[in-house]
Amino acid sequence: MSEQLTIETHSKKKAGKTYGLSSWQRLRRNHLTVVGLGIVSLFCLISLLAPLLPLPDPDATNLAQRLLPPLSPGHFLGTDQLGRDMLSRLIWGTRVSLSVGIIATLIASVVGSLFGIIAGYYGGRLDNLLMRSIDMLMAFPYMLLALAIVAALGPGLMNALFAIAIVNIPFFARNVRGVAVSQARSDYIEAARLNGQSDSNILFTELLPNVMPVIIITISTTVGWMILETAGLSFLGLGAQPPQADLGSMLGEGRKMIITAPHEATLPGLVILILVIGINLLGDGLRDVLDPRLKSGTLVRPKARTAVDPALEAKPEEKQITAGNKESVLRVNELRTYFNMGNEIYKAVNNVSFNLIPGESLGIVGESGSGKSVTALSLMGLVATPPGIIKSGSICYNGKNLVGASLETLQKLRGNRITYVFQDPLTTLNPLLTVGDQIAETLKRHQTCSGRKIKDRMIELLKQVQIPNAEDRAKAYPHELSGGMRQRVGIAMALANDPEIIIADEPTTALDVTIQAQVLGLINNLRKERGLSLLFITHDFGVVSEVCDRVMVMYAGKVVEAGTAQAVINSPLHPYTRRLIDCVPRLGKPDKVIHAIKGLAPAVNDLPEGCAFADRCDYARAECQQQQITITETEPGRSVRCIRVSKGEI
Ligand code: ADP
Ligand code: MG
Repeated sequence: MSEQLTIETHSKKKAGKTYGLSSWQRLRRNHLTVVGLGIVSLFCLISLLAPLLPLPDPDATNLAQRLLPPLSPGHFLGTDQLGRDMLSRLIWGTRVSLSVGIIATLIASVVGSLFGIIAGYYGGRLDNLLMRSIDMLMAFPYMLLALAIVAALGPGLMNALFAIAIVNIPFFARNVRGVAVSQARSDYIEAARLNGQSDSNILFTELLPNVMPVIIITISTTVGWMILETAGLSFLGLGAQPPQADLGSMLGEGRKMIITAPHEATLPGLVILILVIGINLLGDGLRDVLDPRLKSGTLVRPKARTAVDPALEAKPEEKQITAGNKESVLRVNELRTYFNMGNEIYKAVNNVSFNLIPGESLGIVGESGSGKSVTALSLMGLVATPPGIIKSGSICYNGKNLVGASLETLQKLRGNRITYVFQDPLTTLNPLLTVGDQIAETLKRHQTCSGRKIKDRMIELLKQVQIPNAEDRAKAYPHELSGGMRQRVGIAMALANDPEIIIADEPTTALDVTIQAQVLGLINNLRKERGLSLLFITHDFGVVSEVCDRVMVMYAGKVVEAGTAQAVINSPLHPYTRRLIDCVPRLGKPDKVIHAIKGLAPAVNDLPEGCAFADRCDYARAECQQQQITITETEPGRSVRCIRVSKGEI
């Protein structure tokens, strides 16, 4: 959520430009959609202009000129068995079919969506009543139902239109209700209710806009279908009545002459085919635009490994020179991880280097959106691709470069040698499995031992993370545990396979203060007992002193300061670090004034030439914004990215 917010605030400057255009750009990027749009626009235009075009009367018969083949003089597409001009009939017929299809879709969408949204919002008995009546409609094969309705109402175009609209109501009602049910229980609806808004207000101003994409998607995918159904009824003689032409009735009449004058059936058939293909292509494209996760009808799942720039891919797993830094278990060098968002490139991690020594705890600190999580996720190739890509750098784990390493190599390390503890365990634990089973699963993935042993180890792990009554608690589902206990389960899973490195990404942010302290203490003790390395990510300098030996401060994707935790906390060098530390409230010092850092972090797709913090910095000079600022070592193990500090001016 906070990440999303940052992305939004970051790009506000360009919002008007990119966000306004992006739907259209996305639509245009799909060539098939453009073809669909072209076909549909052409058909709509011709249908609209039909009364103005110099066409002969579509219903005027002339038996002397019957069944003329296409390209006959005066009749470009020939004539039918009554000598009527085919081109004129096709154009007028398309106009009828298209309008009937569109009107039927609109009726079905309005009535169906209304049923769906009301049923979903109110639930209970009303939901039951509405949905059961919809179920009754759905209990009949829908074409048969349409036939029955037309038979009851009598043949005719209007009756066919109603029949088609009625049988399609259930599709809208079902789709919309599904979304409305989940939306109606969301916090924003609850908030609107607390504000005192009336039900009708909530329904139409809060809920409707949120189910609108589903309605539009359903419309775009049903129009083509409705045109086919109307044509089907007319083909059977139940829709358009002679002499009126629509595509279905023309096809039906032409069928009788299929041997002597094949053009009479083929032409309307072709028009139906092209029109429906065009509508469906356009519908698919619209759906992709409205729901970016749906590309061509399927959810885009991130790849199992972050994409790597082809230049890096060419030299996978090459031995890295670790000389000079033999003792580091993880050595990250000039790592750059970018997100390709259409025309924009978000440089989330921009030239980050650090090393992690066995047994030490390294903190990564920075505001939300500074690139901490992306740095951590890049290590095991877990950054979502698309849109993420590792552009450059190396990640050396025990002498092996993991950038460009095969998925198998990474999968052997993930959850085994290098493990993660995430911020909110409720979203990372599977709600349908007991916590015991989930820990056991982690063990089974990397170890081959008997079920008994796995179970014993699982219980032992739960005890190690101080879950009381471990045997019983193992059978609990995530929702039955408190936040603190869930995070302990998360830690147990991270410890399961005796890892060398644990990456904890804001593991205590979702917890209240007392539980936070307990969980921090637990992580710290376990780390020291087992001698493992910890990469501890936090936005809170307050917890750094408790957990970290060394710390690295990140800002806009870059490391701005690094050093031992004590040195950085006691004598911060970079103005940003100073401000961050100033923001930490101190117990027992109620007079301490907390100064928020003014302004916002820059968007990582629009980074300035010089220091990214200059805009917000009290010490900034013109030179800060004119040149690339490099990170310099002020003393062994201490470095800072600020020219004014390097020059000793501040
Ligand atoms: P934090 O320091 O709060 O953990 P992140 O590392 O999650 O920040 O994000 C750094 C930047 O990367 C964000 O500002 C955002 O612009 C970008 N980003 C992160 N994840 C994605 C994503 N999946 N798609 C696009 N951009 C992303
Ligand atoms: Mg984060």
